[in-house]
Amino acid sequence: MGKVILTGDRPTGKLHLGHYVGSLRQRVELQNSGLFEKIFIMIADAQALTDNADNPEKVRQNIIEVALDYLSCGIDPTKSNIFIQSMVPELTELAFYYMNLVTVARLERNPTVKSEIVMREFGKSIPVGFYTYPISQASDITAFRATTVPAGDDQEPMVEQTREIVHKFNSIYGPVLVEPEILLPTNSACKRLPGTDGKAKMSKSLGNCIYLSDSSADLRKKVMSMYTDPNHIRIEDPGCIEGNCVFTYLDAFSCCEHFAEFLPEYSSLDELKAHYQRGGLGDVKVKKFLYAVLEQMLEPIRQRRKEYEQDIEGVYEILKKGCDVARAEAAETLNLVRRAMKINYFEDSELIRQQSEMYRAK
Ligand code: ATP
Ligand code: MG
Repeated sequence: MGKVILTGDRPTGKLHLGHYVGSLRQRVELQNSGLFEKIFIMIADAQALTDNADNPEKVRQNIIEVALDYLSCGIDPTKSNIFIQSMVPELTELAFYYMNLVTVARLERNPTVKSEIVMREFGKSIPVGFYTYPISQASDITAFRATTVPAGDDQEPMVEQTREIVHKFNSIYGPVLVEPEILLPTNSACKRLPGTDGKAKMSKSLGNCIYLSDSSADLRKKVMSMYTDPNHIRIEDPGCIEGNCVFTYLDAFSCCEHFAEFLPEYSSLDELKAHYQRGGLGDVKVKKFLYAVLEQMLEPIRQRRKEYEQDIEGVYEILKKGCDVARAEAAETLNLVRRAMKINYFEDSELIRQQSEMYRAK
């Protein structure tokens, strides 16, 4: 069986550098590797509504933003199907069946959901839909019989939950579902890119993001005010690179060629780090270098975005086609699931024949 990718993002804002290094960059590489038979990229509007139920307009407006970001980063609609979650109602039905295979105690143990509940200050008022979104995510992954989920490390508990559901389903109903694997970035700075404020994760909900579509001027402003080492006050002071997000970003984005081009007095990031640690290197110089690296990466993405922005109807066409392909695929899986769960009554002529014979013989 060929390999299949399912991955996606919530339309709660434009995509940022965390999405890029955590998943998007890898998706484009995998798409162009030719190693995957099918690729599904989902704009998870139904999941976004689980904590934005009172703000449907936000979700609606951000679908096009996420689609534009995908296309401008190099997602190619002739190779990857971009679709909108709620346009594939089969996913909701699958999630409903999976709910019987997961306990409340198991949901309570999910560390990503736990920290998101704290971040959103839900207290005891957690919407049931939000609480159970790992189950809905399992249905998104399994509906496409995905083997591979490229994502950041906050998604590990979701893929683990999916694997458990697959095991349980297959052991009760027969071998129908495919067990997925998460594909994490190999560079550890990319598994969870911190925010510009130094907080553990760059996240739309925390407002600490550099967006892929930020202008050069915004990018410069954000980089120049990034969190560094609060004790590195004078240039000659020794600086700390742990938890200093300018260096974490350089870990994620820079390579030797960048030094040759923008900072030739250093040959590598290790050399730059060593100088910072022993003192004598100011934050501004490092930040200017980071700005140059990011600007070079983001400029072509911005340019491509501008082109797609001139053809919004065309982008909706791409989404519509993606939804049609996704729906057909999910419907196929759902047929297999219904058959395995013995809820395909009208299809089962044997059931009807046996029962009519039994009653006739009475
Ligand atoms: P929200 O705040 O609405 O949850 P988000 O910024 O966390 O938004 P998601 O849409 O939840 O973004 O995440 C989509 C994908 O991007 C996931 O695969 C996730 O692992 C990855 N991702 C998001 N933020 C980061 C980050 N800071 N570092 C690495 N990967 C990330
Ligand atoms: Mg998130």
